[in-house]
Amino acid sequence: MKILVINTGSSSIKFELFEMNNKSCLSKGTIERLGDAASSISYKINKTGEPIKNKLEIPIADHTEGLKKIVEILTDPENGVIKDTSEVDAVGHRVVHGGETYSGARLITDDVMAKVKELIPLAPLHNPANIQGIEVAEQFFPEAAQVAVFDTAFHQTMPAKSYRYPLPNELYEKEKIRAYGFHGSSHSYVSKQMLEALEKPVAETAIITIHLGNGCSMAAVKGGKCIDTSMGLSPLGGLMMGTRTGDIDPSIPFFLASKMGLDLQEIDKILNKQSGLKGITGSNDMRDVMELRANGDENAILAIDMYVQRIKKFIGAYAAEMGALDSIVFTAGIGENSDELRSLICDNMSFLGIELDESKNATRSDGNRPVHTENSKVGVWVIPTNEELEIAIQSEKVIKQEVAQDA
Ligand code: AMP
Repeated sequence: MKILVINTGSSSIKFELFEMNNKSCLSKGTIERLGDAASSISYKINKTGEPIKNKLEIPIADHTEGLKKIVEILTDPENGVIKDTSEVDAVGHRVVHGGETYSGARLITDDVMAKVKELIPLAPLHNPANIQGIEVAEQFFPEAAQVAVFDTAFHQTMPAKSYRYPLPNELYEKEKIRAYGFHGSSHSYVSKQMLEALEKPVAETAIITIHLGNGCSMAAVKGGKCIDTSMGLSPLGGLMMGTRTGDIDPSIPFFLASKMGLDLQEIDKILNKQSGLKGITGSNDMRDVMELRANGDENAILAIDMYVQRIKKFIGAYAAEMGALDSIVFTAGIGENSDELRSLICDNMSFLGIELDESKNATRSDGNRPVHTENSKVGVWVIPTNEELEIAIQSEKVIKQEVAQDA
């Protein structure tokens, strides 16, 4: 079975085509700056022998043209990996918000589309682009099943005490204001990998997954189910991130409005785009920030202290909530690649049973790996995330269930 995964943003499309028999990637790529004169598509084709890598700087007007280009690359008579689009059994779409309705992936029907549209107010930047991706994919892959895999679904197992805010009841009941959590495909993927490595019944496990990329979030996963997560109604809450604040005193926006006369759009821009690492150091890229810090830049030193402290707080909170801790898992760009940050986060945590082996931690390798000492009571693991593969796996599951139901 071949599954194409599509992750559509307002000005970007990421794609990856999987052969599900051996879970291998046949081709993957990204279109950036859709609609801009400087748009480009970079892609990789994994054929026997050397993979082909290419970047084309060509104008791509919109999502329709973007997907057309992707189809051309995949079906190219010389270098393509499929003869025609009918070889693709399903298209798995990343859909950011599934609200309270979806705790798992769904075959896309008119009802599902209507619900995803209804949820636009909760994800005004993401769901419209995801909808566009689905509509265009239906045109180009008319024979394939279209599946929606929701970023929020993994966190739907949270109990009310985790997802409710102490706001008036009607704001939850009428407006569905609650914590949803995001990065669900990543937390789901790495927690399943971690559970496979733990030699104990899933029901008895307690792990913390720490996704540190441009966006950052954590999840407490007890008995294989998410019981709490750091992002909330939107991906703005929780940890300090590249450009986002994470948790701040809720009165700050009032202060920005009343004292500085800023409007909602300006406040939104500050909290979402100008804060986090960028707000403190000027750069949202962790590599730059670490370099500044190494050169003694005081803002970078402060930013990393703040960043690390917030992660430590959530580790402590989630260990207390679960009443147990088997392992913590680092993933995504920063979590997978920065041994220095892992070391800072795990520093002085032996009282919780967390002891990092500095030499294992500093040794680079590609796969899943433990980086704790032999005596550490809590495992510390680096597990590379693979959100696209998780979307493909969940899409395959949905199709197989449908086939079983029809039989
Ligand atoms: P992601 O959103 O998962 O692609 O992660 C992006 C973040 O990972 C950026 O802040 C990068 O600076 C950071 N990153 C990638 N490689 C490294 C590294 N070797 N050390 C520190 N941060 C890194």
